[in-house]
Amino acid sequence: MSQSAGPEITELIQLLARLPGLGPRSARRAALALIKKRDTLMSPLAAALERAVEKVKTCEICGNVDTTSPCSICTDARRQEAGLLIVVEDVADLWALERSTVGPVLYHVLGGTLSPLDGIGPDDLAIDSLIKRVERGGIREIVLAVNATVEGQTTAHYVTDRLAPLGVKVTRLAHGVPVGGELDYLDEGTLAQALKARTAF
Ligand SMILES: [Zn+2]
Repeated sequence: MSQSAGPEITELIQLLARLPGLGPRSARRAALALIKKRDTLMSPLAAALERAVEKVKTCEICGNVDTTSPCSICTDARRQEAGLLIVVEDVADLWALERSTVGPVLYHVLGGTLSPLDGIGPDDLAIDSLIKRVERGGIREIVLAVNATVEGQTTAHYVTDRLAPLGVKVTRLAHGVPVGGELDYLDEGTLAQALKARTAF
């Protein structure tokens, strides 16, 4: 932190440094950019933050963030009719799937993955609410779109076990060669998975 900066500037830098992807150096640069663009950037940003603080809610059904609860995805009749529910770890994953225009689907945000070492158990994730949601009916298939990490796969197995008695179809994302990917650049794990999950040509 700059020793010569006033406490307001120091606080601004310290808060910016807590954002993901911003270390102390980029936080200082961001703070300076805001200060230099006081009218065109800092002021509108402050107003946008204030509005967001006031309006943003977490959806009581799926865990998505929106300005209404239930969110605009959960209240979409076309998505409800399709009955395809995608389980994700985080809202960022939901956004990624929406950007890829997957079609009329519903989501359920778990809020993380099972991680005994970090003390994260089933009660810390939105698993009970997922079971209750499926029990209420209307869901034809559940896709587990969790990350291809050890924690992600552990979580997928646990959720699958919990869903089994409900008799709903459970699938997961394919693991394999990314679009535009070159085989030579893939790690062995991905390549082995891709071969195991091969499909008819
Ligand atoms: Zn929702």
